[in-house]
Amino acid sequence: MSATLVRGIGELVTNDPTVGDGVLGVVRGAALVIDDGRVAWIGPAEDAPATDRMIDAEDGVVVPGFVDSHAHLVFAGDRAAEFAARMAGEPYTGGGIRTTVAATRSATDGQLARNVARLRSEALRQGTTTIEVKSGYGLTVEDEERSLRIAREHTAETTFLGAHVVPPEFDGKSDAYVDVVCGPMLAAAAPYAKWVDVFCERGAFDADQSRAVLTAGIAAGLQPRIHANQLTAGAGVQLAVALDAASADHCTHLSDSDVAALAGSATVATLLPGAEFSTRSPYPDARRLIDAGATVALATDCNPGSSYTSSMPLCVALAVREMRMTPAEAVWAATAGGARALRRTDIGHLGIGARADLVILDAPSYLHLAYRPGVPLVHTVLLDGEPT
Ligand SMILES: [Zn+2]
Repeated sequence: MSATLVRGIGELVTNDPTVGDGVLGVVRGAALVIDDGRVAWIGPAEDAPATDRMIDAEDGVVVPGFVDSHAHLVFAGDRAAEFAARMAGEPYTGGGIRTTVAATRSATDGQLARNVARLRSEALRQGTTTIEVKSGYGLTVEDEERSLRIAREHTAETTFLGAHVVPPEFDGKSDAYVDVVCGPMLAAAAPYAKWVDVFCERGAFDADQSRAVLTAGIAAGLQPRIHANQLTAGAGVQLAVALDAASADHCTHLSDSDVAALAGSATVATLLPGAEFSTRSPYPDARRLIDAGATVALATDCNPGSSYTSSMPLCVALAVREMRMTPAEAVWAATAGGARALRRTDIGHLGIGARADLVILDAPSYLHLAYRPGVPLVHTVLLDGEPT
């Protein structure tokens, strides 16, 4: 396997404080060598070894590939009309998920697969090198299984979210639906899933039901993560911490004890500002979480209802503008934070030995990710050391 030198790096964000300055481990005037898909060498450009292949960053900034740890990509149709109605004043309740469930159930495997491929490619072009993908719009044994089978072709980070919403055929019988989720649906989904998730929320699944789903998933060999405290200050965060979930996602409505629980745990608080943006809702208080010592990640929540964006740079910009994160905190949360939320140590940083998933930006500094919102700054994306 031949080595590749990335030279002309104006600013290298390693997320490794032992390599460079600050929490982002920033190195200026650096070069980086990739060997066998991994970062093999970092140093001053003038000391760079000779390699077979070279990539010129043209004085741009190089950042670790974004890690989008929360996305719902397996679905059919869209809900643009619902978005327009919401922008005209109708509240977001989560009930529109059923619209997508109906469209997803009637779609062919090929239609679902093409939609996942389209969104995966869209995310990659915006610098996302790792993406988590959830099921949750099938809500039958067969439709959840095929959703995960299709997702697995695009990512190792697949999540069984049979407990996304109670489907219409189980109206008034949510406990009976949870029995299906924990029984035959889990059994069918588990071979294709790494994670188990539940939407713990008023109108979706209560604390006892959520615990039952996650506990069953853990027993089947999956690892827990949870949609928690999005619309109300419910029990989700406390459940996440109690079960050592990798991540509690949304965290928009938190009590002081929720914040303390997250800060004292290995559970990452994953904030999804695209959801608040797209539902015109108050943003989570990132500053409060960070100041308390919690680990914060940023993710897109890409889905056709409440956050139809696949753009991690947009999430970085929103986090800085609307959630009072510093640009450095936001870039860290979108890369290293996402890796923590997936319990991965090989991605989200560019230290020696890391996977060579990286993004070259048409910008002199990572600050531009927040400073130039909506601008396509991504110049080149390397996945496993290979240009995409
Ligand atoms: Zn979600």
